[in-house]
Amino acid sequence: MSIDTTTSVSLGVRDVHLAFGANRVLRGVDLTVARGATACVIGPSGSGKSTLLRTINRLIEPDRGDVLLDGRSVLADDPDALRQRVGMVFQQFNLFPHMSVLRNVTLALRRIKKLPEDEAVAIARAQLELVGLAGKADARPGHLSGGQQQRVAIARALALQPQVMLFDEATSALDPELVKGVLGVMADLASGGMTMVVVTHEMGFARQVADTVAFMDRGVVLEAGEPAAIFETPEHPRLRRFLSQVL
Ligand code: ADP
Ligand code: MG
Repeated sequence: MSIDTTTSVSLGVRDVHLAFGANRVLRGVDLTVARGATACVIGPSGSGKSTLLRTINRLIEPDRGDVLLDGRSVLADDPDALRQRVGMVFQQFNLFPHMSVLRNVTLALRRIKKLPEDEAVAIARAQLELVGLAGKADARPGHLSGGQQQRVAIARALALQPQVMLFDEATSALDPELVKGVLGVMADLASGGMTMVVVTHEMGFARQVADTVAFMDRGVVLEAGEPAAIFETPEHPRLRRFLSQVL
């Protein structure tokens, strides 16, 4: 998959804290993702994985701590500008049902990047081709499978040429037979040099694609390391218990 790897950046999360009222959801999260590397974040429901991703692209502001791209804090930057650098894909694809697939992908290019129509269309068609959906440009999202819709959502995020991609359980809402195609696109992106943070329950994907696997529990990264270390020689008893339940 053709990613402009010269624009890839490293990502650092440093001692990030966040509370919703009395609920301390992030309690000092640290995560380092090298330029072009993929980190998979695993952990039980409610451990703060989605909240962590949302603080990275500043849908939520942390109470304390820092988020770094290429070693530089992004917390003082304009959140909208940052969100162009950090793309995000959610469990629910949130495509506009009344617009064609092509229009869904060009929309942000037109509105946010202010690109002229022909340039936006050219970029969108190229991204749709990368996710294997060149033939669906004129279809409405409702005529696509869930897996195809999620690939449109990925194309939409990639069209803005992000330097980091965040995936929050991107395959959790899909029928099992559609999961593979989406994971395949994500694996292509990873091997193409995109810097990625992938929250997932797909342990096979984490084992095969991740450079780092981080296990979150109750608002902290309890253990992080190479996939082989995490899956074969987990140290923390909570990680061992989690793996015994999901593997
Ligand atoms: P995970 O993605 O690991 O399942 P989340 O980050 O979604 O975990 O949630 C962690 C905790 O934060 C949960 O207790 C959840 O109820 C709480 N939480 C998440 N978002 C909000 C919010 N916007 N307001 C209040 N509490 C929230
Ligand atoms: Mg979540």
